[in-house]
Amino acid sequence: MSNSTLAKKYIPSPETNHWGKRKERIAKIIVHHAAGVISAENLAKLFADPQRGASATYCIGYDGAIVRCLDEGITPGTSGGYEADRDAITIEVSNSASGGQWPVSNASLQSLIKLCADIVKRNGLQNLVKGKNLCWHSMYQATACPGQYLLSKMDYIAAEANKINTPPPVKEESTDVVHTVSAGETLSGIASKYGTDYTVLAEHNKIADPNLIFRGQKIKIPATGTGSTSYTVKSGDSLWTIAEKLLGNGSRYTEIKSLNGLTSDLIHPAQVLKIPR
Ligand SMILES: [Zn+2]
Repeated sequence: MSNSTLAKKYIPSPETNHWGKRKERIAKIIVHHAAGVISAENLAKLFADPQRGASATYCIGYDGAIVRCLDEGITPGTSGGYEADRDAITIEVSNSASGGQWPVSNASLQSLIKLCADIVKRNGLQNLVKGKNLCWHSMYQATACPGQYLLSKMDYIAAEANKINTPPPVKEESTDVVHTVSAGETLSGIASKYGTDYTVLAEHNKIADPNLIFRGQKIKIPATGTGSTSYTVKSGDSLWTIAEKLLGNGSRYTEIKSLNGLTSDLIHPAQVLKIPR
């Protein structure tokens, strides 16, 4: 069983302060506060006192430093009895001020989030859920621990730790429309069809000579972000035939109508219409 490398120091707690080798699989994290402003090292030293009768797996100081007091393979004695701690890793977090909401510093909070994510990852825990596998002292004992501030942050801690372990998917490349050149087409003709300029298409497709395109060539039309292209009405066009030609379905003429704010179906040559993508 491994321990977190986020802890830069190990100050062991004696066996009077824990339950010995684990008999159960690690299934949760229990968060505590120190009820005082203290460094991780001094917190760990308190748990190194054999008279203490308590320990924690990890201690986080007011500055965010992390010290380990126990191997993760040891059942800690932190949360008021074997029942509470049997399947837990426990973390003591220093406060940034005494009393009131018992706040903790942002450095401590960020260390707690990183440590939780690391524990979850190495021990194969499920994504953290407040009250399920991200727990706190007062769930097991009548105590004010971990204080109102940390308690109010439980959903945030779970969400941030889960984010570390499941980073958002890599954003896909913007999906360009691809136009296949047919016989007789010119780059400027294609450009006007999609409401852009031939120089834009030449650059986007790395075409050295815009006069040299060939049948079957794939021309990428950059996404404009406007959500529409434009079309210049030719003699003989109707909204239906335009929809059929550009949208693949004549009955979608209503979309063209509403996009252009048309009140009737009448269109005329040279009229420029916005065409939905
Ligand atoms: Zn506690």
